[in-house]
Amino acid sequence: MKNTLKTLTTIILAFGLVTPALAQRANIGRFTKGSFKAATSQQEIQTLKKGDQYAKVCMKCKSITIKEVTDAKEVEKLCHDGGTVHCDSCEEQITIKRTKLNPTGKGNPVKSKKSSVTYVNADGEECMFIVPIKSE
Ligand SMILES: [Zn+2]
Repeated sequence: MKNTLKTLTTIILAFGLVTPALAQRANIGRFTKGSFKAATSQQEIQTLKKGDQYAKVCMKCKSITIKEVTDAKEVEKLCHDGGTVHCDSCEEQITIKRTKLNPTGKGNPVKSKKSSVTYVNADGEECMFIVPIKSE
């Protein structure tokens, strides 16, 4: 009886140690299931924080590249007007175009602060979009 108890305790202790380790491993390369909408404004892109994942969807080569935000500068680069985003799949350099929505703010004070962000090719056609993938 004493032996059984000892075995049980050992098992419980072992589980206690194993569970957090497993949980941690599950976090590496995690991909949250669900539907996610493209970020079409600077504000939406800026909701990305370090550790968040996002997808670069390239319409030219029909690919999706999953990235993880490593620092705040990376997020800034994603919505920097005139900057470029690189498609990891087809190597295309895509230009970031930021347009102020309703700059005068007339009629819609909420929208006036928004800047739409589009990703265009050399011909000015939209060819990529960014999709924030957030678990919460
Ligand atoms: Zn591509």
